[in-house]
Amino acid sequence: MLRQPGVAVLAATLIAFSILHVGFSDPQIPLKVLGATLLGGIAFILMATANLLAARPRWLEGAFGGLDRMYEVHKYAGTTAGVLALLHFPLSPDAVPEGVDAIHEALVPSAPLGMYAMIFLFLLLALTLNRKIAYHRWRIPHKAMGLVFALVFLHVLMAPVFFYDRYGPSGMILFAAGIIGLLSYLYTLLLMPTVTSRKYVVEAVNKLERSAEIVLAPSAGAMPFRAGQFAFVKFHHAGLSEPHPFTITSAPADAMLRFTVKSLGDWTRRIRKDLTPGTKVDVRGPYGRFDTSRGGDRQIWIAGGIGVAPFLSAVRSLASGDTREIWFFYAVREVADALYLEELRDRLAQMPRMRLILVESRAGDSCTMDLIRAEVDQPLAGYSLYQCGPASLTSDLSKGFRAAGVPGRRIHVEAFEFR
Ligand SMILES: Cc1cc2nc3c(=O)[nH]c(=O)nc-3n(C[C@H](O)[C@H](O)[C@H](O)COP(=O)(O)OP(=O)(O)OC[C@H]3O[C@@H](n4cnc5c(N)ncnc54)[C@H](O)[C@@H]3O)c2cc1C
Repeated sequence: MLRQPGVAVLAATLIAFSILHVGFSDPQIPLKVLGATLLGGIAFILMATANLLAARPRWLEGAFGGLDRMYEVHKYAGTTAGVLALLHFPLSPDAVPEGVDAIHEALVPSAPLGMYAMIFLFLLLALTLNRKIAYHRWRIPHKAMGLVFALVFLHVLMAPVFFYDRYGPSGMILFAAGIIGLLSYLYTLLLMPTVTSRKYVVEAVNKLERSAEIVLAPSAGAMPFRAGQFAFVKFHHAGLSEPHPFTITSAPADAMLRFTVKSLGDWTRRIRKDLTPGTKVDVRGPYGRFDTSRGGDRQIWIAGGIGVAPFLSAVRSLASGDTREIWFFYAVREVADALYLEELRDRLAQMPRMRLILVESRAGDSCTMDLIRAEVDQPLAGYSLYQCGPASLTSDLSKGFRAAGVPGRRIHVEAFEFR
């Protein structure tokens, strides 16, 4: 994560803010108060960053390494902001010092605003970090984080001038962060659902083993995308209107857009049971940077279960003259779970240097470094690795490939989870 330019820019901003804040501070300010405003300022910039990333700006995907990484930074930024706000609180003075215009300062409600913001921040952070709360229940209070940000912005704007120079260089950084954070929140809440979505209609719902293939026809312009990308899908159907992310499994050149949805929870089960052709759909995207076309001549692909999804689009887009060497390990519990197995076998059989290896755990096999080494029978250091599947599988293999000499920049993992 630290290698990403987006994270480096964030770190540089925090360092610049800290230097300017301390360097341009009034020498009269007690050290404790300087510490309080420094921690509070860093927390505020981190909150603004979390808001910006939640707006899913596609132009930032490159700088952070994909939307899943952006959500990771969003989570760390939000949590760190909470910790710093907690430290900022006891350092903050409870009265204005002697000699300061007490009447003027008393009229400014910065302290109570900060106090309320912190109480709400902690309540919402406790909800956010509690993984036992179902996603659809978690989403609504999580959205209220933006209101907490607005309260904190007011707290920053109204902080007594004696403690913090809002017109100084560090004050300007905070002001810019406040505007960016606030606009990002308003965009996420009001504009994002409509501005970034394309209209589709359900053409077919094909029932597969514990999953369903959804085929969508564009109502107007189709969404351009690259193989391996995903989109948020929202159905205009009672109980299915919450947007969920799914990988596009059709090839970019196909007329129809396809998704394969594994029945994992209530919503995905209802898709298989209740969704009918003719339903209107909003598709928001595309997102993601799991692009095997940039992976060079020698690649190893590993799919665990429904993790086959991003590879389907890549296989369906293969051109006949493609001479890349690709080893595709498809790990499933048993052969009945291996969605699209025949199609994958047929398509890959036509490619001179691509091989599909089915790994069935029920048959006692598992996708380990030993198995991969035995099949590939070449030093692994020369390959690029693309993986999508359960974290238990992908994290072990990432470590194994790193140990085998594959640099981190050639190890690509698609996580099917944001939270
Ligand atoms: C980038 C990405 C691509 C994905 N591609 C596919 C795919 O091609 N096929 C497939 O079957 N699954 C895919 N998933 C996973 C899929 O989005 C979840 O399985 C599905 O949303 C679960 O919904 P549920 O309510 O039925 O299950 P639940 O049991 O309620 O949720 C299971 C988990 O899914 C996540 N989740 C639930 N709702 C949402 C939501 N609205 N937005 C984001 N995450 C949510 C949460 O982490 C939750 O813990 C992908 C996920 C991501 C992040």
